Amino acid sequence: MTTQNPEGISPRIAAVAESATLAIDAKAKALKAAGEPIIGFGAGEPDFAPPAYVMEAAAAAAMEPASWKYTATNGLPELRKAIAAKTLRDSGWEVSDGQVLVTNGGKQACLEAFETVLGDGDECIVPAPYWTSYTEMIKLAGATPVIVLADDTAGFRVTVEQLESARTTKTKAIILNSPSNPTGAVYTKDQLVAIGEWAARNSLWVITDEIYEHLTYGDAKFHSLPVVCPAIADKTIVVNGVAKTYAMTGARVGWIIANPAVIKAATNLQSHATSNVNNIAQKAALAAVAGSLDVVDEMKVAYDRRRKTIVRMLNEIPGVTCIEPEGAFYAFANFTGVLNRDYAGTMVTSTLELAAAALDQAKIAIVPGEAFGAPGYIRFSYALADADLEEGITRLHKLIANGN
Ligand code: GLU
Repeated sequence: MTTQNPEGISPRIAAVAESATLAIDAKAKALKAAGEPIIGFGAGEPDFAPPAYVMEAAAAAAMEPASWKYTATNGLPELRKAIAAKTLRDSGWEVSDGQVLVTNGGKQACLEAFETVLGDGDECIVPAPYWTSYTEMIKLAGATPVIVLADDTAGFRVTVEQLESARTTKTKAIILNSPSNPTGAVYTKDQLVAIGEWAARNSLWVITDEIYEHLTYGDAKFHSLPVVCPAIADKTIVVNGVAKTYAMTGARVGWIIANPAVIKAATNLQSHATSNVNNIAQKAALAAVAGSLDVVDEMKVAYDRRRKTIVRMLNEIPGVTCIEPEGAFYAFANFTGVLNRDYAGTMVTSTLELAAAALDQAKIAIVPGEAFGAPGYIRFSYALADADLEEGITRLHKLIANGN
């Protein structure tokens, strides 16, 4: 998470912080490979295998010579059609395949969305806690992220009043992410409409990251912004992908849906960066989005069970509180009550230090709130096996209970 500026590195790139989520995941995986009994709550990566028909589609595509050649930068026509159809099926938004750009994961989709509408001197409002990469991407586009914090007492959801006080003449865009990484918060329809109408009134772009659209629990319901608030549809850029829904994180297939001018500009950008997404991965994504959602429902049952277990177990740790996440697969717990203590000889004054101590002493990988603009909290991905989850939180409980 440190930034360096060794001689010769462009200041813009030298100022980019390492991705904390990926760094913690890499460290945990390396320690595990070295034989350490690490339990990973770090990266948001489902522990399931993708559906068999998805892997079979990839295997078949690998045997087609055409898969090994360049294809159109904006994506295979059949995949763009399937994404448009899936968008109507899942969100109720009718879009043409010309409004779809297939990207290397949701991450490239976010980066290209920011690059396409932001520039030097612009401001982009970022509700916090936020996913760790948004702010770095906004800075890469030459713009300034303006953070608006909603803590656990607010259910991690910002209000229009807060957004309005952060707005200046330089505000060009806002990024929304519901269900949220890292908090699991899900905005209600009314809250989304209010934010969309505020953005439309102020001629802002809205980038809405809908990658966790299928992962909601209990009474919470996902709503797609351009559907519930048509007034902002033309200035909305939807980001989505197959990684979280179909347990395909390593396939790297995401997409952007937006008006044709945005898609054209973003495609031009991508044509100089990465060209078409790997054709084999695109064929796998096609099988996923064209397939049934039953496979997702099965995974959701497991996530929901784990969600209840982790929230209960975290709240059982004296001094720790965790509000119930309604979506995604993250719990975002408040650890301010257990800081400034000595844990097995290490004085811990921040959640950054607590996460390091937890990895060292309890062998669990967790991501400190500092990575998400919310010190004092820790993010737990609960997309891991039930037994590991229970063992990991039990270890954390012991570590915290023995602190003084
Ligand atoms: N988005 C996931 C996370 O937040 C995967 C890692 C990453 O790309 O940040 O853990």
